[in-house]
Amino acid sequence: MELEADRERCIGAGMCALTAPEVFDQDLEDGRVVLLDPSPPTRHQAGARRAVDVCPSGAITLVSRDGSPGDPSGATPGGIA
Ligand code: SF4
Repeated sequence: MELEADRERCIGAGMCALTAPEVFDQDLEDGRVVLLDPSPPTRHQAGARRAVDVCPSGAITLVSRDGSPGDPSGATPGGIA
């Protein structure tokens, strides 16, 4: 699991830091999200997913880079002759 946080989009609601304090914090200056751990360990992943769900601005994104059969390079598997 990898996470990304868009500070421009964040409105400082703080739901992420409340939901998964091991993964998210808030900037003391502007209240916007601070991503403490972009690759949280398994024990913190459920909380991180919940934080993505409860964020009212959609500022946190879950980036899945493992276990996906798709190839982002655009290569097409197989071929029709
Ligand atoms: S829950 Fe979303 S809007 Fe609120 S502080 Fe976290 S990232 Fe920002």
